[in-house]
Amino acid sequence: MSMACWDFESKGARVSGELSPRWTSGGLRGALLSLALLSAGCGPQEAAPTGASQLQQGQAASSAFKQPDDAELQREIEAVERLGSSNYARSESLLSELQARSAPGSVERLRILTLRGDQAATLKDQQLAEQMLSALRAWPEGPSRELAEMAHSFLQALTLSKKGERLQAIRAMNALPAFLDSQMPKPMLQRFHHFLAIEKADVGDFDGAIATGLEGLKIADRMGQPWRRAVTLSVLSTLCARAQQLERSQQLADEALLEAMKDPDPVLLYTVYNSRAIAFTVRGDLEQASQASAQVIANARKVGSDKLLALALANSADVMLSMGRYAEAIKAAEEALPLALASHDRDSEVVARYNAGFAKIALKRVEEGRREVHQAIALDNKSGAISEAASGWLELGGYLDRAGDASGAIEAYLQHRRWSDEAFREDTRKTMLEADARYDDERRSKALDLLGRDNNLKAERLRARDLQLKLWAAVGACVVLSSVLLGLAYQRIRKTNQALARSNEALKIQSERDPLTGLANRRHFQAVIQRGEGQPQFSGALFLIDIDHFKRINDVFGHAAGDAVLIEVAKRLTAALRELDLVVRWGGEEFLILVAAHEATDAKLLAQRLLDLIASQPIQHGRDSIHVTASIGFASLPVQPHGLLPSWERAIDLVDTAMYMAKAHGRNKAYGIESMQAKDEPELQALAAQMEAAWQAGHISVQTLHGPVASPEVPA
Ligand code: GH3
Ligand code: MG
Ligand code: MG
Repeated sequence: MSMACWDFESKGARVSGELSPRWTSGGLRGALLSLALLSAGCGPQEAAPTGASQLQQGQAASSAFKQPDDAELQREIEAVERLGSSNYARSESLLSELQARSAPGSVERLRILTLRGDQAATLKDQQLAEQMLSALRAWPEGPSRELAEMAHSFLQALTLSKKGERLQAIRAMNALPAFLDSQMPKPMLQRFHHFLAIEKADVGDFDGAIATGLEGLKIADRMGQPWRRAVTLSVLSTLCARAQQLERSQQLADEALLEAMKDPDPVLLYTVYNSRAIAFTVRGDLEQASQASAQVIANARKVGSDKLLALALANSADVMLSMGRYAEAIKAAEEALPLALASHDRDSEVVARYNAGFAKIALKRVEEGRREVHQAIALDNKSGAISEAASGWLELGGYLDRAGDASGAIEAYLQHRRWSDEAFREDTRKTMLEADARYDDERRSKALDLLGRDNNLKAERLRARDLQLKLWAAVGACVVLSSVLLGLAYQRIRKTNQALARSNEALKIQSERDPLTGLANRRHFQAVIQRGEGQPQFSGALFLIDIDHFKRINDVFGHAAGDAVLIEVAKRLTAALRELDLVVRWGGEEFLILVAAHEATDAKLLAQRLLDLIASQPIQHGRDSIHVTASIGFASLPVQPHGLLPSWERAIDLVDTAMYMAKAHGRNKAYGIESMQAKDEPELQALAAQMEAAWQAGHISVQTLHGPVASPEVPA
């Protein structure tokens, strides 16, 4: 996954050239800093808690983007934007007041309606969200009509997404990208990008998410406001953490903090410290995570929001728990709990209960702790968060086990098994539906590809993706208006990462195996080379085997018969070799065999044996008896007489060429390179490029072996 995240080349050189290479060099930052300084009021300022002072701060900053009508109103809108959803009641009352002052049909009114709807949907005030939607639908004809339609699509997608109707949300979102380069006011544009990026991540499309996030960053750049950059950088940082891009995530979080310090306020600091804490936690740097987490709490207190504070404390409890600081974990969780209940914040409540419960069990307050964890699990189940409930059981099992309650632990593990099966069934279904809904050929083909693999691999893949998806869906639900990921439950991350690590291990094993034949695949071969088992070169015997006229077998007997042939050939090859030799399914009907430290004469014997094993007995498939032959290229390395050890690439090229010679000379043959008059790799390459001629000229000596003659009663 790691490099894919930053592979922007395919998505436009602009993004790639501008961002990824210079990310840490400061070049980008320097350029933007000067932009920011063009507009007054963007330098370092005192923290301004809320309201009036922020309204003033926004004044100069907003001059960086277009102000069609009412500059004063624009500034006030921005001030509310900066508050985010930290204080819904206050923002909502400010916004309705601003709406009354705005001109009907104006761009300002449009922004206000969209913000109100955004906030209402984010905080699940369904009724108000619906009101805003119908106001946008009824937008009067005029220059801003098209904008209103876009805003409507956005709000609809957001509302659906928050309601958990991801399928329809994705459909509504499909309409959005076309709008994005329009005349839309930049703050709206930035917000749309954040939303799109997070939605993409929620369905597992991290590359797309990060590309969209970077587009959002460009928009923030153009506005020249540090707070907006800081917000986008935080979003990007968290997206990278989700994509397991740990270094990038860290760099982005650092940059977000630097940027925020140019124009700080508690909501912004809460946001950037939160993304720092996420980045550190995901990296496993708990000491730093706990420091960042303390800053998150301090800023939540300054903002004066129960909701933010509850989440900050619950998350901090998780960091404490991970550090084995159980008493502190309990203290933080117990402070979080009443705040979470008061602000009806289920996520914070669940995280607080889990952490308090685990910490209590660790301190041998087993019964009390177990009750707490059971409550958390029940909450997860009630809200359909089945994967989380399953992880909850698993973690409970671990704590009970360590506390010496073996039977409790077993019970918890059994529950874990039961619920993870359940979660898997449900999520496989959903994943497929979602993939379908995206109308996205690329992703659809990926999903189909996934389906096409063998069941185990499929299961593991989906499980890994599901864990991410589930976790981050929870995060998505807590996105503030300014679109920052406020509500990351650290606990979820940690659990997910543990589970992911296990899944990834299983996946690694599965993904290096060819599902049809059970042989190692090319990826495994590459891994073996890269692990440097042996040296950069290979010493031993190398065989490349290609079934003859395999296409004909498919055509005559059907694809299933072709598969059966591949399976049987794989079996025969494996049977001929020792356990320490490596048989790789190299391609469709090609196999590569590595036999370490082999005598040249042995290689010849083995090649003959392989020809015989493949061709002597026809392969039965149903009523068909299929006669199969293969052509083999082989070589013993180092290459005699000069003892040259070629690179892997060269060695494979050699046996590949020899195999083609065997084909060209009639198939059902093995051609082995006995010696080459080459003193170095370039000479070897030159000879290999004209192997046939070099053989005729006596520069290469080739062993030629023949396979058994086809028995006459079996058609070839
Ligand atoms: P040659 O003797 O020159 O090697 O001819 P060939 O027909 O064996 O070689 P070619 O490369 O033209 O065709 C290989 C075919 O193998 C084409 C492809 O459809 C088929 N194939 C590849 N993978 C699979 C598979 O997993 N199952 C089946 N049944 N067929 C496969
Ligand atoms: Mg082939
Ligand atoms: Mg073939």
